[in-house]
Amino acid sequence: MHDEIEKVLISEEELQAKIHEIGQDITKEYDGRFPLIIGVLKGALPFMADVTKRIDTHIEIDFMDVSSYGNSMVSSGEVKIIKDLDTTVEGRDVIILEDIIDSGNTLSYLVSLIKHRGANSLKIITLLDKPDGRNVDLIPDVAGFTVPDEFVVGYGLDYAEKYRNLPYIGILKPEVYKGS
Ligand code: 5GP
Ligand code: MG
Ligand code: MG
Repeated sequence: MHDEIEKVLISEEELQAKIHEIGQDITKEYDGRFPLIIGVLKGALPFMADVTKRIDTHIEIDFMDVSSYGNSMVSSGEVKIIKDLDTTVEGRDVIILEDIIDSGNTLSYLVSLIKHRGANSLKIITLLDKPDGRNVDLIPDVAGFTVPDEFVVGYGLDYAEKYRNLPYIGILKPEVYKGS
């Protein structure tokens, strides 16, 4: 599997160091507020798992699954709820954890949904930000790393459902796409 990677963009060590920092910042800001942390499936799963272990105050976690891409590499602009939250967000301090913000379509939909449901506050934390891909006005409150406008995989991010289990962020060799 690793021989299908052309280049490692962000190493496991760099990811973990940044995630440690983000966890400490959440602890400081939300201590005593019992925030609701929403992970966006499936991509944010490794980020969610690692960052929550670095938070030293009570939190609640929940997940949402929305689709905008399907198996394609280009955003359709359409967002559909596949799995909704189990929890009500009304009056809660909500943190959305995302793997990557590209066009921003997925997140702008989620942001309006959470606001509409009456959250007390909302913070967007994304591991990766691809500002060049944006087609809506959306700036995350926290972005772990800025990445170039290239298709990245690993650490939750897939290509045709593969590569989510890589411990780093990388770029695939071009022949991997040709073979599919
Ligand atoms: P957006 O709606 O901001 O365009 O992107 C939404 C989702 O598309 C992300 O949460 C992620 O699942 C997927 N996505 C965007 N850019 C990339 C990328 O470079 N690589 C992979 N594997 N998925 C991406
Ligand atoms: Mg995602
Ligand atoms: Mg995907």
